[in-house]
Amino acid sequence: MQQTLSIIKPDAVKKGVIGKIIDRFECNGLRIAAMKKLRLSKDDAAKFYEVHKDRPFFKDLVEFMSSGEVVVMVLEGENAVVKNRELMGATNPKEAAAGTIRADFADSIDANAVHGSDSDENAKIEIAFFFAKREIF
Ligand code: ADP
Ligand code: MG
Repeated sequence: MQQTLSIIKPDAVKKGVIGKIIDRFECNGLRIAAMKKLRLSKDDAAKFYEVHKDRPFFKDLVEFMSSGEVVVMVLEGENAVVKNRELMGATNPKEAAAGTIRADFADSIDANAVHGSDSDENAKIEIAFFFAKREIF
């Protein structure tokens, strides 16, 4: 069993598709081990996305991620990191395969509905960013 971090981003929360996105995870072998709704400050968002700090889209990304509420989850299952990335689809929803979360719920490369950890190592770091051990079951 592996764990990964998922974030339902502000665009998807505003659209009211939290339940529809969670359904994709639960129907595909990813159990919700932890979950909370919160709003990131700009500092939180900048720290979370620090790896992208030199990219041209960093400022917009931080603005967007702190623009509204997000739902943060720990997903658990076999190959959870890769499984979640498959369910999410490509970063740019225009390139995301049919039936993926981003193809169905995202509008643009910036407002792309979900975040998912990209490796086991980053999953551990990202989970620890949001959750204490006693919040994960
Ligand atoms: P992913 O979320 O698929 O792992 P990245 O880690 O490359 O993608 O990028 C993090 C986030 O930054 C993306 O989900 C998206 O919201 C934003 N982003 C990435 N590339 C671009 C871009 N070229 N223009 C605008 N926003 C981008
Ligand atoms: Mg990424």
